[in-house]
Amino acid sequence: MNYAAIKKTDTANGPGIRVSLFVSGCTHHCKGCFNREAWDFEYGAPYTKAVEQEILESLSKPYIRGFSLLGGEPMEPENRPTVLALVKEVRTRYPEKDIWCYTGYTFDKDLLTWISRGQDEVAELLACIDVLVDGEFIEEQKNLRLPFRGSENQRIIDVQASLKQNRVILKAIS
Ligand code: SF4
Repeated sequence: MNYAAIKKTDTANGPGIRVSLFVSGCTHHCKGCFNREAWDFEYGAPYTKAVEQEILESLSKPYIRGFSLLGGEPMEPENRPTVLALVKEVRTRYPEKDIWCYTGYTFDKDLLTWISRGQDEVAELLACIDVLVDGEFIEEQKNLRLPFRGSENQRIIDVQASLKQNRVILKAIS
């Protein structure tokens, strides 16, 4: 996997001050995408063990509330194994910090369908994620006033509550 950027004091992609990883590679190709260069799976730099250590070390700071995964597309099959290993490690080391993931796929139509077809990696990923911001960016529904998302169709989903209740539960954002 390649990655486009790491932000160590991100305040735009989830509540509080966060560490964010922008992975490379995305097949959605949304019109008006903010990050077109990251469509290419070869964009940026190789994600290495040293990069993982840098992320984990950055997360240790007491003022860091959580970790956000963006892209590109973290849920692309090519990116899943590396992303899964990372979120498992974050979950183990920092159980008190929350994990947000942005995806152009949708929670119920795509991710739950893949799980029902035996894609266990997706189930393992969702087990580690607190909040999923889902759906492609739709330029016609762009709204700059929305917190933590770009277009009206995108949802901020409480993943664990949704899995438990088997329906989409939106996360209350204060
Ligand atoms: S899913 Fe995100 S990164 Fe991918 S094309 Fe759409 S806006 Fe761009």
